Amino acid sequence: MIIMKSDATKEQVRHVVKEVEKYGLRADVSAGDYRTVIGLVGDERKIPFDHFAILPGVKEARMVETPYKLVTREYAKMAGEPERRIIKVGNVEIGGDELVFIAGPCAVESKKQLFTIAEGCKKAGAHILRGGIFKARSSVHSFQGLGSAGEEEAREALQWMREAGDKFEMPVITESRGEGQIDLIAEYADIIQIGARNMYDQDLLTAVARKKKPILFKRHFGAGIEEFLSFAEYMVAEDNKDVILCERGILPLGKGKSYTRYTLDLAAVPVLEKETYLPVMVDPSHAAGRRDLVLPLSFAAIAAGACGLIVEVHHNPVEALVDSAQQITPDDLKILIDTAKTIRKDMAGKKKK
Ligand code: PEP
Ligand code: MN
Repeated sequence: MIIMKSDATKEQVRHVVKEVEKYGLRADVSAGDYRTVIGLVGDERKIPFDHFAILPGVKEARMVETPYKLVTREYAKMAGEPERRIIKVGNVEIGGDELVFIAGPCAVESKKQLFTIAEGCKKAGAHILRGGIFKARSSVHSFQGLGSAGEEEAREALQWMREAGDKFEMPVITESRGEGQIDLIAEYADIIQIGARNMYDQDLLTAVARKKKPILFKRHFGAGIEEFLSFAEYMVAEDNKDVILCERGILPLGKGKSYTRYTLDLAAVPVLEKETYLPVMVDPSHAAGRRDLVLPLSFAAIAAGACGLIVEVHHNPVEALVDSAQQITPDDLKILIDTAKTIRKDMAGKKKK
């Protein structure tokens, strides 16, 4: 990390960036009101700190010992950048004062199904529409999502998402399961989701970040917080800071019958918020795996400080092709959203006092 003097000129910053690039590294320039901080991205063995430290305008060049740095609040603070990143998607602000609710079916099954659910979600108060077109499934014999049938089918389903989003005035999000799907998805979606199973796929992360669209990044069920942030760093290192972190449950303990699909790690929410400026959301649906737990977990997540939720909703959950047990109805979504907002309002009132 190179910290420039507060009176360093633009020319001096440009010169440092050129020097950094000469060594085959990339420079992440954060120009704050007070001073500019340059994060170096690349193989740390190549970095001649002593050389950088004496360049004109440089206050300090030092090694950061954590496997991530660009995502930290400390980095933003040093650069004089906001301590919270607000990500704008259409008219929606993620990480701002208002809670954001992403809702929709686990999988897009048909145009009619999608439009019925989208309308219900909008009426319930949702802001963003979700819908899986490329599904990450544990068995090759299960329904893999309409997109897996071929490019034409994928494009058609993506078009439905776009149309439903436009009709009900909600930006849309869908998951990219692999590098080969990114270009097509980016043509239609406003936010690209990286699923829990792909959290460790650094090539996928790099490729998706280069689309310069917001990304919803889900924590792998076996990943620690440090790993989660280290892999978020892959996207921020591509100069895409529009990354929404999503806690969705880690592997549950115990033998035999498990009562929840995963264990929602609620402590991760305030921990991540202390560590990073990126907004943190929670997915209660995949954590619970059962619809009777989705509302209580949602309320707990809001109380823990999440800036929003991503919830699976189906007009007829028992008939859903994927994740039937955990999808809630639009009526339940309305109760969820109204109650979550009340909790948030109550918390905000207490903070002010
Ligand atoms: C999903 O949101 O559709 C999904 C598959 O979630 P996760 O990656 O968290 O399992
Ligand atoms: Mn699902």
